[in-house]
Parts: sequence; C-alpha cells; structure tokens
Amino acid sequence: MKKSIGVNLQPPKDDCGSGSCAWHGTLSVRGRVFRGVVRSAKSHNTAIIEWGYHRYVPKYERYERRNTRVTAHNPDCIKAKEGDAVVVGECKPLSKTKHFVILAKVGEGMFEIKGEDLADKPEEKEEKRGAKAEKEEASEEMKEEKKNEE
Ligand SMILES: [Zn+2]
Repeated sequence: MKKSIGVNLQPPKDDCGSGSCAWHGTLSVRGRVFRGVVRSAKSHNTAIIEWGYHRYVPKYERYERRNTRVTAHNPDCIKAKEGDAVVVGECKPLSKTKHFVILAKVGEGMFEIKGEDLADKPEEKEEKRGAKAEKEEASEEMKEEKKNEE
C-alpha cells in the first residue's frame, strides 16, 4: 500500500489488490478532489457521484442550483452504496466516461450534499501570500529606521 496519495484521508481497512485503486494500485490521483453523494452504484465497480453548486444568473441577479454528475471507480476496498457521501479524486481516464476514483466514505444515508472542492482553495493561499508580503515590508521598514538612526 502507498504511504500517501496526496489527500488527507484515512486509508480503507481491506486491501483490494486492484490495479485501478488509488490506495492499493498504481493509480495516481491528480487534478481536482470533490465531496459528493453516490446516486447509483449498479454498474460493476462504478458509481455515479453527484454534488450541487450555485451558479449566478445575471439577468435575475439570483443564484440557481445546479448539479454535477461524474462516474467514478468504486474499488472493492470501499464498496460505496447508494446514499453514501464520498470523496472522489480526479485520475487518468479509466474508461470512456470514468476519470474519477472514490477515495473514502465520509457519511451514510445522505440524499443531498453541497459540493466542496477539497483541492482548490486559492483564497487561503492568497491570504497566506498577503501576510508574508506584509511581514517582509515591515522588516524592510525596520531596517530603514535603523539606518536613519545611524
Ligand atoms: Zn483498494
């Protein structure tokens, strides 16, 4: 089993030994990571994951609700059922329409879930950068003050 798949989640207990599993195979997770609900798990090792989001409609100055649906690989070590809340990660194309893989189960008996992009958080990064820049500016000011004193 891999030491890390680059996402902060608990690995599943069972080892499925499947090649196309993010934990036990060679499949690498890269791209975007989302939280969603399993809508259907009828296909073999495949689940349909759905999450909602709000899209702004300028004409009415309001938000409309929309859903995103993706097909994701459902490995034997996770075996997500309909209604489970799961975290999915983007991976290489596994079939014509599958390019996501289920990474973990995070809840049960859910009907709806507000989608959350767990990988992309540019606001936080900007804040950190801003704080760092301020600190650097402050230290430069200190240096100038010291020079003036001399
Ligand atoms: Zn596995």
